[in-house]
Amino acid sequence: MTRGSCLCGAVRFEFDGKTTDIGMCHCSKCRKVSGVASNATLMASLENFAWRSGADTLMKFSLPDGWSVWRCSTCGSPVPVLHPGGGAYWIPAGLLDSDPGVRIAGHIFVDSKAPWDEIGGTAMQLRDDFGSEEIG
Ligand SMILES: [Zn+2]
Ligand SMILES: [Zn+2]
Repeated sequence: MTRGSCLCGAVRFEFDGKTTDIGMCHCSKCRKVSGVASNATLMASLENFAWRSGADTLMKFSLPDGWSVWRCSTCGSPVPVLHPGGGAYWIPAGLLDSDPGVRIAGHIFVDSKAPWDEIGGTAMQLRDDFGSEEIG
């Protein structure tokens, strides 16, 4: 069982079973909304995921184009969101309180990374989304 929580602890969740590896997104939206170089996320299937607290206090922030993020309404931490496909939760890896057992699968939207962002490690680097041209 892997557990996660927001900065203030109001939002708590857990999941078990197989997850995806971690994807590091360097796109401009992830950079802006997180304030850091890249967003680290993994996905757990709907049936393996459970909210433990705070699910009724989440706040949604939306752009006019429909792009949105959900946050803890007390501390502003990003929180897991249901994938548009509906079968899985997208989980910000920084929220995890224990080792999920998976590692970084790759870096995506590397073409959009900040000029000061130096990507370390050996995971593949992709120009755009997973499936796009490998550039590092
Ligand atoms: Zn919080
Ligand atoms: Zn992104």
